[in-house]
Amino acid sequence: MSDVIQLLPDAIANQIAAGEVIQRPASIVKELMENAVDANASSVKLIIKNAGRTLVQVIDDGDGMSPTDARMSFQKHATSKIKSIDDLFAIVTKGFRGEALASIAAVAQVELKSKQEGETVGTQINIEGSIIEKQEPCQAPKGTSIAVKNIFFNVPARRNFLKSDNVETKHIIDEFFRIALPHPEVAFSLIINDYETYHVKPGNLRQRIVALFGDNYNNRVVPIQEETDVVSIGGFIGKPDSAKKTRGEQYIFVNRRFIKSNYLNHAIFKAYEDVITKDRFPFFVLFMDIDPAKIDINVHPSKHEIKFDEERLVYTFVNAAARHGLAQYSVTPTLDFDQEDAFNQMGTFGQKDKNFDLNKSAMSFSKTDFPFTAKNKNQSGDKSNLDNWQELYKTNNEENSKSLVQRTTQMNQELPLDEDVQHKEYKEKVSGPYQIHARFILSPIKSGYIIFDQHAMHQAILFERYLHVMSSGNNLSQQQLFPQNIELSAQDAEIMREILPEINKLGFEISDFGANSFVIHSYPADIDYANESQIIDDFIEQFKMGAGIGKFSKRENVAKSLAYSAAIKPGKILSTQEMQNLIDELFACQNPMTAPNGRKTFVKYAIQDLDKAFEK
Ligand code: ADP
Ligand code: MG
Repeated sequence: MSDVIQLLPDAIANQIAAGEVIQRPASIVKELMENAVDANASSVKLIIKNAGRTLVQVIDDGDGMSPTDARMSFQKHATSKIKSIDDLFAIVTKGFRGEALASIAAVAQVELKSKQEGETVGTQINIEGSIIEKQEPCQAPKGTSIAVKNIFFNVPARRNFLKSDNVETKHIIDEFFRIALPHPEVAFSLIINDYETYHVKPGNLRQRIVALFGDNYNNRVVPIQEETDVVSIGGFIGKPDSAKKTRGEQYIFVNRRFIKSNYLNHAIFKAYEDVITKDRFPFFVLFMDIDPAKIDINVHPSKHEIKFDEERLVYTFVNAAARHGLAQYSVTPTLDFDQEDAFNQMGTFGQKDKNFDLNKSAMSFSKTDFPFTAKNKNQSGDKSNLDNWQELYKTNNEENSKSLVQRTTQMNQELPLDEDVQHKEYKEKVSGPYQIHARFILSPIKSGYIIFDQHAMHQAILFERYLHVMSSGNNLSQQQLFPQNIELSAQDAEIMREILPEINKLGFEISDFGANSFVIHSYPADIDYANESQIIDDFIEQFKMGAGIGKFSKRENVAKSLAYSAAIKPGKILSTQEMQNLIDELFACQNPMTAPNGRKTFVKYAIQDLDKAFEK
């Protein structure tokens, strides 16, 4: 028999190997961006066309390559990052396998331009299906630009496996986040089809989170820190009330490398066990610094998996870090953020527990945390108006049409002081609103007490406000620093398009981005504290439920649905002032009695009922 074994030609071997490293445009994004960061870039620009099918380009201002290195970089196992097997155990760069560029060049048309510091000209290489078409000197700024065109041009089967543009773009944005988050000292921008979707400036970790996820995250996250002999843990976790119904905002980085670990996710979820419902997922961006000798990142070419020598211990530490973060938040959420520098200088998470001022009162949010609070604070600290509500909500329509300012002022001047309560100390004790089970607000009044449902009452307030805003056009919107992309199902996208004019009147600025995606440029100012992307989901859900019932006009249904989704939720802990404001605003409504969905906003109990209950 004749011999049948042959060595595969390089081009084919590379193509096959490429399958492992390059599955989709997002894989190219990951590899090129990692290389840019490894090359000490201070600014990295990612350009995408057609969901990466026609173009993925990364431009950096890093070290650049010499003409020879540039040529070498496309060879298999060509790397400048490790020299010996020992280096593998002290790895600090993202790359080390030396197979990314070789793989990319095997399945696409690549144009590289690179120039090193101090050189007058750079070098350009065009390579296609592993074959170098040309190399010549070129004009180029310092750094490297790699443009990858027509991915899988020579592997149609793979090309056909790519998903819709939306899905591929989502993967690309995921990779962009996974590199941009752990490198807040580097500027990144992402340009999709000529539209600058993200542009994040160098800064600290908190600033990076806010730049990527939205301004609102500034109030939604708490820092965590835990220092042990084995591992340093730092980062930010979401406050429980900002947990989302969808997964996707959980990030774990080990030595600044994004990893996937159900095990460690579990360690964090477990810490939230008692504070969020099972169907919600908390936000977290967790960084671990660990001696590279104690981990093995060489498990899979994508390097998303990782093995720890001391897995159990790491689990315990991560869980403890999250628990401590949460505990400190619920005891004293007023953090002194100036002291976060410790872990904003990434890698030195040091300093434990200094961020918390135990003397500051619990749950004292800043004003901006609660933009819905009344603008008119005429209540004097001592004398509460609560005792007079009884009269207030009995008032006629004329009263109702007056502004809250007028009414509050009037109340202070004209209404008789409470005569029921004789003793000053006692009075002070009964005058404040109290929150029960983070759902209800109990408030004593002259004849007994009222219990409000916080979600229902806020819905009633927002419903009237939104109706008013839609007819007056006086919305208060809040520009997002960076527009946010949302993907909807085809059906929801239809609905969104239908209600876009109404919802944009409310202070949203949402534009139709084609396919099923939309870009949110701003939100109404009064939904700041809540969870915006959840709001859109809930909003559409509500709208669907309300549509076709026939009781509400489209406009009313929009107001009602948004009121429902934007209203403070059960479980939200409120300060006395916040409760006070809610109560005031409720009684300034035309209809303070019920939420637009018919639910009562409050129930009144007479003091006699209590007396009766205590009878022998
Ligand atoms: P690895 O990153 O594992 O070393 P790659 O195939 O991604 O392998 O890159 C090969 C080599 O090319 C790198 O080791 C590096 O020396 C060089 N290189 C790649 N991209 C860049 C870049 N953007 N700037 C400077 N050098 C780069
Ligand atoms: Mg690399």
